[in-house]
Amino acid sequence: MKKLQRNQEKIESDISEKELEVRRLSSIIEEQNGVIYKLKHLFSSPKINLDDLRCSVSRLQCDIRNLTLDLSNAREALSSIYDYFLSYPPDWDERRQVLIDINGRACSHCGTRSNLHVHHVKPLSKGGSNELSNLIILCEKCHSGVHGGRDFSGKF
Ligand SMILES: [Zn+2]
Ligand SMILES: [Zn+2]
Repeated sequence: MKKLQRNQEKIESDISEKELEVRRLSSIIEEQNGVIYKLKHLFSSPKINLDDLRCSVSRLQCDIRNLTLDLSNAREALSSIYDYFLSYPPDWDERRQVLIDINGRACSHCGTRSNLHVHHVKPLSKGGSNELSNLIILCEKCHSGVHGGRDFSGKF
């Protein structure tokens, strides 16, 4: 698990590094295409080969595409592990937000729009998962209700 998380972080930093490099090279290309640069170097051949630069940019863009694919695979692998996490998974806030949005920001029992909680239909303790299909949005009052009146003040 830790390894998967590290792997994902590594891919993310690889991507941003390469994107930075693409931006750097692209700005060099742009500069060389600019009028001022052309005037300045009218009588001397440019030191940098534009074709080489363009080649590097497209190579980098290809790398980024592949890495992005790796990243989405890594995310998927992690997310399916989180589905069966025995407690609130690290991406809980993300799941919570997705679910609240899907539900139109309202309690699925009474339609109240404040103090929204996420409730596990089948509890984790009874083998329920963190899959969105096992989660519903309830307001604090309804949430307390389905748990037999337990105090649910706060954020869940
Ligand atoms: Zn609950
Ligand atoms: Zn409610």
